[in-house]
Amino acid sequence: MSTDPRGPHAWDRLWAPHRKEYLVEEAGNYDIDSCPFCIAQTVDDPTGLVVFRAAHAFVVMNKYPYNSGHILVCTNRHVATFDELNPDEMREVGELTAQAMRTLRVVSNAQGFNIGLNQGSVAGAGVADHFHQHVVPRWSHDINFMPIVGGTKVLPELIERTRELLSESWSK
Ligand SMILES: [Zn+2]
Repeated sequence: MSTDPRGPHAWDRLWAPHRKEYLVEEAGNYDIDSCPFCIAQTVDDPTGLVVFRAAHAFVVMNKYPYNSGHILVCTNRHVATFDELNPDEMREVGELTAQAMRTLRVVSNAQGFNIGLNQGSVAGAGVADHFHQHVVPRWSHDINFMPIVGGTKVLPELIERTRELLSESWSK
């Protein structure tokens, strides 16, 4: 865990470098061979930015976060929308979403969450063909940093460190 003397509030510092990140998903058409959520299942956790893997679904960092700790609960299967999920997938997506909230509270002192689905490209989904539920931690002071300011880049090491913190804390 963090060695920051401020303890769990360390993310105040960790997420500062990308306060001005943008809010969009990475738009594009992905078939099953180029799908980032399918590829993430074929590589190791750090490479795929995977936080946790379960039987029917998994948790991965969003490379284009609204906030530090913005994670995605994805089905293992390459299916597009919520109504295509089978009962096992629906149950596990729900369980992983709940565990994501608990873990984000522990690791980052999240005070609230935005949880939701963009279903279809017209609704803002970037990877429209592979189901993913957004879990975005929120803090009372973060609203100032939400507006879109383009042109900055996500620092990969920052997301990687966040992934480590979440992964270490996930099952505790
Ligand atoms: Zn896929």
